[in-house]
Amino acid sequence: EKKVLPVFPWFAIDIGGTLVKLVYFEPLDLTPDEIRTEGEILMNIRHYLVSNRAYGEDGFRDDALELKNIRFGGRQGNLHFIRFPTSKMSNFIDLCIMKHLHTLTFQVFATGGGAYKFEYDAVEKLKLSWHKCDELDTLIKGLSYLSKLNPNECFYYEEPQNEANPNKHPFKFDIRNPFLLVNIGSGISILHVESETSYRRISGTSIGGGTFLGLCCLLTGCSSYDEAIQLATAGDSTKVDKLVKDIYGGDYERFGLPGHIVASSFGHMNLSEKRDQATIADLARSTLVTVLNNIGSISMMCAQTENVNRILFSGSFLRINDLSMRILAFAMDYWSRGKIKAIFLEHEGYFSAVGSLREFIR
Ligand code: ADP
Repeated sequence: EKKVLPVFPWFAIDIGGTLVKLVYFEPLDLTPDEIRTEGEILMNIRHYLVSNRAYGEDGFRDDALELKNIRFGGRQGNLHFIRFPTSKMSNFIDLCIMKHLHTLTFQVFATGGGAYKFEYDAVEKLKLSWHKCDELDTLIKGLSYLSKLNPNECFYYEEPQNEANPNKHPFKFDIRNPFLLVNIGSGISILHVESETSYRRISGTSIGGGTFLGLCCLLTGCSSYDEAIQLATAGDSTKVDKLVKDIYGGDYERFGLPGHIVASSFGHMNLSEKRDQATIADLARSTLVTVLNNIGSISMMCAQTENVNRILFSGSFLRINDLSMRILAFAMDYWSRGKIKAIFLEHEGYFSAVGSLREFIR
């Protein structure tokens, strides 16, 4: 028996604290009936969304992440990944009206806090049939789907400290064994996941990707995430942070703390001559390392109390951020003496949006 699926187009949207993530399933196997009823709007979407990579100044399609010719609920098609700042949500709504999207009524599955905040606009201005989904439920559903579909979705670094070649390998991930999921968005949620349908949010912290970006803008005068990451990559945090060896002259042997470990993040910045020596790149690097040290130690504590040996890291904070993934991977390995493995994900911040899209084929 064939299920009757909703009419196209199939969009799901995750409206987060910083970024809107939009996923679009482009069907490639339309029936003559569907071409008659939905063909025109799908052509319009193809013309605007799928043939461009940038939309205005702030919208981008991550074409490297596109999943081509996949099976989704028995249909064949391409999965597209699009993002823009949440601060531009009202421009996006105006654009949809300009493109006459509000003259058609179709279903959209929406998640993230903005699914609530923008519900009125979506229903009243865009005439959408708006279905809200919980962002953590959909996060796990999206992860479950993509990790099965894409053999390269999950990966790890064999030699995270080797900058030239950290040895990235695909990781064969099985969602049925318990793991920790650390989602680094504007803020951070830490989940203990036992299966696709059973999980608990065990912790969180407000010191997340938004903190990195906000502090970087304040300290360096940069104005975008991409710029902040570029600065951090070029900087040296030891010019800003006070290390164990700055205090001990070497290791703190009694408690096994090597000299190169940070004793005090930003601890050099009380001295004016140290401040004069630190460049904006150094400040950006130190901001990154400070946030990462905090994420690392909270994640490690959670993994130990929950007794799991795999930590998956998701969220857009890891976008174009190989540096942070290597730092996290090394820290997990070092502090757990090789017992806990850090695993990363190609589709970073898009899992909740993908999980919401799955509602179309339920
Ligand atoms: P949220 O759902 O809270 O918006 P995300 O998973 O989308 O969370 O991650 C947001 C974080 O990703 C930002 O705080 C920032 O650190 C990082 N980031 C990555 N790319 C961008 C970008 N283009 N603009 C702003 N922040 C970005």
